[in-house]
Amino acid sequence: MEERLIAMFTERFGEEQGKLMAEAIAFASRVHCNQKRDDGTPFITHPLTVASYLLDMGMDAPTVIAGVLHDTVEDGDNVQIADIEKMFGREVAFLVDGVTKLTKSGKQTYVTKKQEQTENLRKLFLAIAEDVRVVIIKLADRLHNMRTIDVCTPAKQIKKSKETIEVYAPLAHRFGMGAIRSELEDLSFRYLMPEEYENIKAQVDVQQKERLELLSSAMEKMKELLKEANIEGSVSGRPKHLYSSYRKMQRNNCTLHELYDLIAIRIIVDTVTDCYAALGVVHATWKPLPGRFKDYIAMPKPNLYRSLHTTVMDEHGIPFEVQIRTKEMHATAEYGIAAHWMYKEGRQSMTELDRRTAWLRQVLEADQDAEDSKEFVDNILKDFLGEYVFVLTPKGEIIDLPVGSTPLDFAYRIHTKVGHHCQHARVNGNVVRLDYKLKTNDVVEIITSNSQPGPSRDWLSIVKTQTAKNKIRQWFKHENREENIQRGREMLEEAAKRHGQSLTILMKPEYLADVLKRHNFATVEDLYSAIGFGGVSAGQVLHKLIDLHRKEERLDELKKRFEESEQELPKKPVHRANPKGIYVHGDPGMAVFFGNCCNPLPGDPIVGYVTRGRGVSVHRADCKNVQSLMQEADRMIEVEWALDEHTSFSATIRVFIEDKPGSLMEVSKVLLSLNVNMTDLSSRSTDDGYAAMEITCTVTGAEQLKMIIANLKKIKQVIDVFRV
Ligand code: MN
Repeated sequence: MEERLIAMFTERFGEEQGKLMAEAIAFASRVHCNQKRDDGTPFITHPLTVASYLLDMGMDAPTVIAGVLHDTVEDGDNVQIADIEKMFGREVAFLVDGVTKLTKSGKQTYVTKKQEQTENLRKLFLAIAEDVRVVIIKLADRLHNMRTIDVCTPAKQIKKSKETIEVYAPLAHRFGMGAIRSELEDLSFRYLMPEEYENIKAQVDVQQKERLELLSSAMEKMKELLKEANIEGSVSGRPKHLYSSYRKMQRNNCTLHELYDLIAIRIIVDTVTDCYAALGVVHATWKPLPGRFKDYIAMPKPNLYRSLHTTVMDEHGIPFEVQIRTKEMHATAEYGIAAHWMYKEGRQSMTELDRRTAWLRQVLEADQDAEDSKEFVDNILKDFLGEYVFVLTPKGEIIDLPVGSTPLDFAYRIHTKVGHHCQHARVNGNVVRLDYKLKTNDVVEIITSNSQPGPSRDWLSIVKTQTAKNKIRQWFKHENREENIQRGREMLEEAAKRHGQSLTILMKPEYLADVLKRHNFATVEDLYSAIGFGGVSAGQVLHKLIDLHRKEERLDELKKRFEESEQELPKKPVHRANPKGIYVHGDPGMAVFFGNCCNPLPGDPIVGYVTRGRGVSVHRADCKNVQSLMQEADRMIEVEWALDEHTSFSATIRVFIEDKPGSLMEVSKVLLSLNVNMTDLSSRSTDDGYAAMEITCTVTGAEQLKMIIANLKKIKQVIDVFRV
């Protein structure tokens, strides 16, 4: 294997490079000499195989050499990137570093495996953005590991397969490497869903055999027809990949029999003109199925896949798919970005290469401030490695966006400034709403205006891509901190008001410290600012504050109850009660009524005010109306509770509760169990998923009310309860 690799390498890149290759192999053999693969073979077979894959794919010399060395820094006890650079040059060293995990070289310690994986992916994506050859080495590495995974433990098989299907197969797809993608998918599929895999494999085997027999005559005929038409080309049957068939069946909810392209015939010709000529021949001989013709030559897929697809019927009425493409298109379809090196002299230009990694640089641009690796990696996985639609700029350039994207996502993908100043959007010539969901083949035009000073805050809930979201957040963060602080403060105040809470009570230093720590903010201004630009929701902060406050209240209550139980029961009031249960000092006979403003209850500290002609109005000592009444100090009069057990009072409480079915029921149940007589109950929904209930009930005094409130607060769905 070693000799073959050196011989082929030398033949392609010359003697001098060949020597370097031999040195690389010798070095890697030394580093890995004590290592074995899971199947017991010497470890060195792995990097050598990876290098031979890279050579077969037509990669350049530094990439193939890096393939040989790719595990030396990660696995070697004492090998540094600097050593590689000294021996094999900067380029090779960079490529090796790009595929090397952080753990060893960086000496970081991670809290979780997941976090470690995330950090490694982030490093990998950054390296790919700088040099796309990194992804090709990484995929060749993964391909060999997956091809030999049957000797690993089941746990490792599942772990590696999961990572492959979530990250590496989509990456291969992203870079147009169709052959590697399909193989990675099929290999992972086998370990992740063994039953489905076996099931579909058995079906495909039977069907492919049947259909290949049926199609062999069609293929023979096709070869003859091409010859007659003077078109140079090869015709072959193309077996369908298992995982993509499985996905298609799931997506379209159909059986294997209904997949037209289970067997496709592939025609590979020399020129684009020949592609269309061959298509003409096919359509003249077999009847095309309407709606099945796709011209990916005129309109390549975002990953630059080009080909003609059509589905026709054979003489027995059995549909089959035909794919027509040039050799170069075929190489691009199979090897994707790697075909750039294969066709270096051809049409593939550096700009095309740049375009293939433009999306990665976009994420980098949007995330320049993101310190959170998880967010960064998630953004890439969600925005770029998931399902996408592709849309067109008015100039016909293809832009791919995740399914569910809006014109705003499109605008931000074009350029950050286009996003910020987007005024409206046209799709296929018609003005659409900014939350319009883009569809494949939509032609999207963004109209910008300088009178649109910047993004609007509700855009955050419209855009689908993380990159757009981050760009909008950043605008709010950087462009107007002062404004954000102001706005954040207002938003929190509004939220408090909506929930009938007072921020002065909730913003206790010890509660705030807790909230700041939780969100990693240094100052209250930072918190306000984050609320202002949408990084943190006001409701979230408020509920945390309420929660902390409630906890403290509960503690106080317990403490008080404990203290009370230590004391003797207080003596019953000695004064003679008037019908309202109030004793008026100095004039017990005076008529008494309660202020509507504060509805005092027995137990509340109270004061009296002598009105003109209507007797004494009784208020809670802390009633805000009392403050103004105090100006007429001579009319204030001392009053005191004087009760017998039959006096009862009306009290209103407000309950904030999650607006869910059953919430109201829970409240009623508690009141019923406490034997509370309700005289009025109303409830309305607030716009953020909560309901505010007002309950008026009859109580014997402040103690009973407190007890009711305490019991209501124990209900899971209840956010807060307080006396009105
Ligand atoms: Mn490896």
